[in-house]
Amino acid sequence: MADRLVLLGTKGGPAIRQGGPSPTSSLLEISGRRIVVDCGLGVTRALVNADVSLKDLDLILITHLHSDHVLEFGPLLHTAWTSGLSRKVTVYGPAGIDDYWSGFLQSMRYDIDLRIDDEGRPDLRDLVELKIYADGIVHRDTDLVITALRVDHPPVVDCFALKIEAAGKSIVFSADTSYFPPLADFAQGADILVHEAMLSDGVDRLVARTGNGARLKEHLLASHTLIEDAARIANAAGVKHLALHHLIPADDPQFGEADWIKALSGKWDGRLTIGRDGLVIPL
Ligand SMILES: [Zn+2]
Ligand SMILES: [Zn+2]
Repeated sequence: MADRLVLLGTKGGPAIRQGGPSPTSSLLEISGRRIVVDCGLGVTRALVNADVSLKDLDLILITHLHSDHVLEFGPLLHTAWTSGLSRKVTVYGPAGIDDYWSGFLQSMRYDIDLRIDDEGRPDLRDLVELKIYADGIVHRDTDLVITALRVDHPPVVDCFALKIEAAGKSIVFSADTSYFPPLADFAQGADILVHEAMLSDGVDRLVARTGNGARLKEHLLASHTLIEDAARIANAAGVKHLALHHLIPADDPQFGEADWIKALSGKWDGRLTIGRDGLVIPL
């Protein structure tokens, strides 16, 4: 298995539209590990399309509990289970992920109990090891170190950037955050910084077509990062590769890859990837 990062879903926000990308999720395959970061709607299908056997799920990390990052977490595990999962999956999530998981199990209890009895499956409840994390070291074993940094994503308090170090590489996910300079220290020298990004011209058009305009714009500007500020973080951190995802807007035909690249003109001259669903970055 060649080490790779796959951007499974690259859209910021929970809505989906015809022909458009899916909300946020990513896959990192490194050192023989399969690490899913966030579980937005579409993560299960995207993993299968990326040629991942759901039986081989290993580690799942949830950055925060906004639905565009967690909505399909339960369905992913349930589908992996009905696909033959028989090994333990470790899940790291912020406080509250336990409520989501117990609520999901409760909502699917009829089906889960039925399949254990009728199909002889192991108990899904025993296959998932849920761990709540906060700032600092999240996970450490001989091949892999994962560290979290609380970022600034009001009104969400428990939202964490994640640094994954393995095989001599370091990959950092910004999670959802407003411009947050401490992230540059956290991501210092990273091989890849996967940062969220927002295009300011696009935000105005987005709020115009969404309905709750002024309020939505206020949220976006207070809680997310404009593309030029993502470049500032990448420059200050001296990262080798800036990959943008959680794009806002992501499905406005008026804004394409060229607009994102243009917005970075003179601001970032390192390696750049504008995310799209299914895009593979070899490590
Ligand atoms: Zn989000
Ligand atoms: Zn969010």
